[in-house]
Amino acid sequence: MIIKDQIIYAMGENRESAVRVPQNQIITFHTRDCFNNQVTSEEYVMDSLDWDHINPATGPVYVEGAKAGDVLKVEILEIELEEEGTMCCLPGDGVLGPDVQQSSVKKVPVRDGVCLFDGIQIPANPMIGVIGVAPAGDPVPCGTPGSHGGNMDNTKVAAGSILYLPVFHDGAYFACGDVHACMGDGEIMVSGVEIGAKVKVRFEVIRGISIEDPRLEDKACIYTIASDKDLEKAVYKATKAMCGVLEKNLNYSLNEAGMLMSACGNLQFCQVVDPERTVRMAIPKAVCGCVLPRK
Ligand code: CA
Ligand code: ZN
Repeated sequence: MIIKDQIIYAMGENRESAVRVPQNQIITFHTRDCFNNQVTSEEYVMDSLDWDHINPATGPVYVEGAKAGDVLKVEILEIELEEEGTMCCLPGDGVLGPDVQQSSVKKVPVRDGVCLFDGIQIPANPMIGVIGVAPAGDPVPCGTPGSHGGNMDNTKVAAGSILYLPVFHDGAYFACGDVHACMGDGEIMVSGVEIGAKVKVRFEVIRGISIEDPRLEDKACIYTIASDKDLEKAVYKATKAMCGVLEKNLNYSLNEAGMLMSACGNLQFCQVVDPERTVRMAIPKAVCGCVLPRK
């Protein structure tokens, strides 16, 4: 099943036109880049960008059987990139935004799994920047992350990973977009190598467990993820969520779980440049194999 022409600019909008999709089937989303494919060359003048129509996400889809309070399991099976990515720098945006004098655009060809930044070869790490469900309250612009997912810009949201999202509304209303051919943790100048893609996912609904914020696992680690306007609050939320996982699944006290994280948990930036900052706490699977609380 292919979802391609349906686009939203805020998670939670256009629910009435959501396509129904079954669980346990491969669903392919054709995604546009975060500039809505408007930045066509390095000569493009960023001032002419239509800022009301950026960060498009493809969807939403109504996942059959998902009920409010469930967990939506999203297996990321494959991310097929287009052939050229786009980056930009904008005055005022990103960690060095105050130092940027004028905007500029860079095109980054992607060939055989390699991103060509001038003569520098950067291995592609295809990842999904915007991915989530309809939030509990009003629609949230796709450029903003939160408990519903959204613009988390998490380099670990890649093929082979499994993302767990809280479900706030029956059907979940999942959407995704903003794929990056590669991105450094932090996304310090607000763009990765922005690129269109075909994303294959598979949904499953998990009943009897609720989570407050997204969680993730890949081959190596489990991750709790949290976003907040205040980076330190995001750090606290992600750490506290992982503490809960270790308390419950390893039968540890808070002190023991805290020391275990202090010994082998890695606190990592997803991005530090969006309207809310996003971080993750990683624990090796050899230490704790399950990121959801045991039923
Ligand atoms: Ca993004
Ligand atoms: Zn992006």
